[in-house]
Amino acid sequence: MFYYCEKCADIKNTGAKAGQDVTCEVCGTAMKPVPQEYLMPGGSFFKSQAVRQQFISMIQSQETYDADIGGKKEELKEEAKAEEQRHIAEMNQKMQIIELEKRMKQNAVLRDKARAEEEFQEEKTKLDRALAMDVISRDEYNFKISIARKKVDNFEEIRKIEQQFDMGIITKEEKNAKIAALTQ
Ligand SMILES: [Zn+2]
Repeated sequence: MFYYCEKCADIKNTGAKAGQDVTCEVCGTAMKPVPQEYLMPGGSFFKSQAVRQQFISMIQSQETYDADIGGKKEELKEEAKAEEQRHIAEMNQKMQIIELEKRMKQNAVLRDKARAEEEFQEEKTKLDRALAMDVISRDEYNFKISIARKKVDNFEEIRKIEQQFDMGIITKEEKNAKIAALTQ
């Protein structure tokens, strides 16, 4: 269906249904359906290029026509298109930054998990040796191993607690108490 803008004489062929609001992309004015007398019976074409030109001249001769806007219609259309492209590029860039931050955070979590596992293995090696040498009892061994295991299982929470301490949100005593609560 063809619509026209009486302010800038832009003509648009849209799939809009009768009664639906169509806005001029050049000047934002509400568009009106092109009268059937200018169109072929199906309404999909103007009767001819000459008739189309005649219709445009008719719009331009009305008081509602704004020659300033109508004169730079193509320029305004290009500007609107360029603005849209800029907006899309900007959105894509923002999405990429968010993705990158997410990936960096995931990598940091994986790195910390690996470090927690490593620390557990070191602690276990030390305790195994102490147990073999009878320096600690089996009960002490089990208690210490259980703490070391819980440090691995709760590494994410412990990581957050350490961040809170690093940011000066909690004191060292609070940090130790919180970690102890998670591991004992
Ligand atoms: Zn317009």
